Amino acid sequence: MTSKASATELRDRVVSSLIPGLDLRPFIAGEFTDPVGSGEITDTDPMTERTLAVLPAAGPADVDAALTAARAAFDQGPWPRMTAQERADTLDRFAALIERDTERLSLLEATDTGKRLAGVRGWDVPQSAEVYRYYAQAMLQARTTSMPKVGEASVFVRRVPVGVCAAIIPWNFPFACISWKIAPALAAGCTVVIKPAERAPLSAQALAALAAEAGFPPGVVNVVLGTGDVAGRALVADPRVDKITFTGSQETARSIVAGSASRMPRLTLELGGKGANVVMADCDLDAAVDGTITAMFDVQGQNCCAGSRTYVQRGIYEEFLDRVVTAAEARRLGDPLDEKTEQGPQIDRAHFERIDSYVKGALKEGADCATGGKGADQGGLFYAPTIVTGATSSMRITREEVFGPVGCVYPVDSTEEAITAANDTDYGLSASVWTSDLDFADRFVTEVRVGTCWVNCFGYFATEVPWGGVKLSGQGRELGVAALDEFMDGKSVFRI
Ligand code: NAD
Repeated sequence: MTSKASATELRDRVVSSLIPGLDLRPFIAGEFTDPVGSGEITDTDPMTERTLAVLPAAGPADVDAALTAARAAFDQGPWPRMTAQERADTLDRFAALIERDTERLSLLEATDTGKRLAGVRGWDVPQSAEVYRYYAQAMLQARTTSMPKVGEASVFVRRVPVGVCAAIIPWNFPFACISWKIAPALAAGCTVVIKPAERAPLSAQALAALAAEAGFPPGVVNVVLGTGDVAGRALVADPRVDKITFTGSQETARSIVAGSASRMPRLTLELGGKGANVVMADCDLDAAVDGTITAMFDVQGQNCCAGSRTYVQRGIYEEFLDRVVTAAEARRLGDPLDEKTEQGPQIDRAHFERIDSYVKGALKEGADCATGGKGADQGGLFYAPTIVTGATSSMRITREEVFGPVGCVYPVDSTEEAITAANDTDYGLSASVWTSDLDFADRFVTEVRVGTCWVNCFGYFATEVPWGGVKLSGQGRELGVAALDEFMDGKSVFRI
């Protein structure tokens, strides 16, 4: 068990030793290079609101250098020409280095994002290592497809890597999002330029150093931290990019689609969610209450798959509400580096204010707060776990992604109403349902328009199970064998 004092010691270690040990410059062509630059990015600690690091911001010239390196590594370099086994050896070495450095990477990630150290150490970092190993193996299983002869010609479809991939990363799961994107890309033989998020860039810088140590040929992995407006726009507009794989908001996705429209690169878009969480009267109420608390508040609500709209059958509405309010109020808010903490601070002041404005807006429109609705007693960037009642289907708090520890609870009368309400959103990332009626569960799974559905559970993920959204939650899939196809083209060959 880590005490509060040791959380402070851990933070001191991050600030005095781990961050000074990082090279914060762009990583291009296999080395950290002095940026031509476009100013600086100040990275703050969500727990203390103090500066963790000031990083050089990559400008268009740095993006240009990274793409030159990635293009050369793809067009002339050894990486796409290696055997899958040779690439797998490098990916396995990379995974082993991540495992070796799990503690350091977890401390950097948890401090930078405000996410619980226990969660990052238990999942984000080890699962990332697993993802590199998984795609190394998946590529070894990939097959050329033979087809029946056409006339005299033998016919087959060979799978070839797409080319140079731009990977644009959000701040809430930076380490995992990088891995989900670049592991299949690299296994397929692509080269990558990673653009980390301004609000949580440290683990990407650490990963760049590990890429050098693992022995990727120069230019295969490049990391250019810069602002979305400068480095991000330069990256997506560049004709040397064959594929963009993006995780982030709808607004940025629109800008990326528009900014790359003239040359139409392949796109994978992993966008936000407005997850429905349906609780029927015949459910296991204990499990539903626990699952709802996780759905609403895990990662302090800064979670694409958050279950932010909970629809409860009217017969159990009052009892359910009482119980989730009690559980919300019992949550232990605290230092993310403390093992006992259940909920950390929001990422920064601007985001905290944005969350609060959604809640205040809903109250102004006539909704109520059953609990929370303000900064928590801890002060700083802690927002109280908040449960909103009386919101209508047209209010902003129902329609837009709040991305904070704020869940709305609505009564519904029937299974039909629950399904209609769950689908009454532009988003389609994930949904959960709690019921002992397996016929209804099956109908819900069939009719709800999402990429992932949880029945009597919430938040299961696995490396081999595809993840992604429908509607405005995105297109394409990450994880699972099929994600390799996102980074490969089929080349049809007729051979006499
Ligand atoms: P964001 O869209 O603000 O930023 C994401 C990235 O895009 C950052 O690196 C940013 O610098 C860059 N960017 C911004 N403007 C750009 C532009 N014009 N051109 C190119 N790049 C640009 O998103 P965020 O606030 O970092 O992340 C939160 C969002 O990500 C939420 O909507 C969340 O639901 C979503 N998300 C989705 C998943 C998923 O798996 N579907 C996972 C995590 C986060």
